[in-house]
Amino acid sequence: MAEFSIIDRYFKQKHARQSNVNLGIGDDSALITPPENQQLVICTDTLVEGRHFPSSTTAHAVGWKSVAVNLSDIAAMGATPHSILLAITLPKIQEDWLDNFCQGLFACCEQYGVELIGGDTTQGPHLTISVTALGWVPKGQAITRSGAEIGDYIVVSGQLGDAAFGLQHLGHPLQKRLDYPTPRCELGKHLLGFASSMIDLSDGLIQDLQHILNASNVGATLQLENLPTDHALHSLSRQQQWQYAIAGGDDYELCFTISPENYKKLCLQKPNVSLSVIGYIESALGLRLTYQNEEQALNFHGYQHFA
Ligand code: ADP
Ligand code: MG
Repeated sequence: MAEFSIIDRYFKQKHARQSNVNLGIGDDSALITPPENQQLVICTDTLVEGRHFPSSTTAHAVGWKSVAVNLSDIAAMGATPHSILLAITLPKIQEDWLDNFCQGLFACCEQYGVELIGGDTTQGPHLTISVTALGWVPKGQAITRSGAEIGDYIVVSGQLGDAAFGLQHLGHPLQKRLDYPTPRCELGKHLLGFASSMIDLSDGLIQDLQHILNASNVGATLQLENLPTDHALHSLSRQQQWQYAIAGGDDYELCFTISPENYKKLCLQKPNVSLSVIGYIESALGLRLTYQNEEQALNFHGYQHFA
């Protein structure tokens, strides 16, 4: 099948259009009229088969996940996702694989109100999927990594370690959390005006939180007893649970810092995702781990891309 028939058949206009997309798939570039007083938020993430997902992952899950990980980055700025571009390299054309991939991709797009507006389709030795996501945030209000203040709470959404556990136990119900991450788009924009800094968790809490600490030039204490974990992990030793929860990747939860006053206000508004206060920001640099106020050794590492 020729490149153009693949584009027409699989990628063109499968779902709801965004009203301000003036030109989508089919021309040399897409055209969007930006909303007034908003900043463009844009990011890209690549998934390589065997590296970012096991080769056994279903095409549907690969499609979902390639969008979801990018929407998670948009959410982590407090922004609202708008559209995506898809650059895909395929070793060969397998029609049922492409069908399922597109179903997963468009299911995620639809759930979060996002339109596929362009991309690139090529053949190459390894299945590689790069998605670029675009979103909007009110001018000057994006939540970056650098705003954490001494005394802020450190808060995470959802549960930690599910995906890492799922990866080690393929076939377990928690594999769903590895294959179908849920970007916290509603929560992300809800945090505008509340959170002082934010990051999404892709490489493990320890590593990702460290990015906030470095960018904000502060330190922190993490209270291990407060880590939100699935009951499937509770039969493991404490060390093993912590390993999954703070060093496991692919959570795609939001981790943010927030003043205690703002946290109280936020909770009164009952956000639709569970939130856990897992520690606090301090002036002493570095990251300390405690379990019921007793300091624990920090011998955990997050995911290393070039290890
Ligand atoms: P060009 O040669 O000008 O780069 P292409 O022939 O690569 O254009 O693509 C034709 C149109 O199809 C463009 O609008 C492009 O954005 C779109 N497109 C190509 N591949 C994809 C894809 N995988 N997903 C979405 N749109 C795609
Ligand atoms: Mg062109």
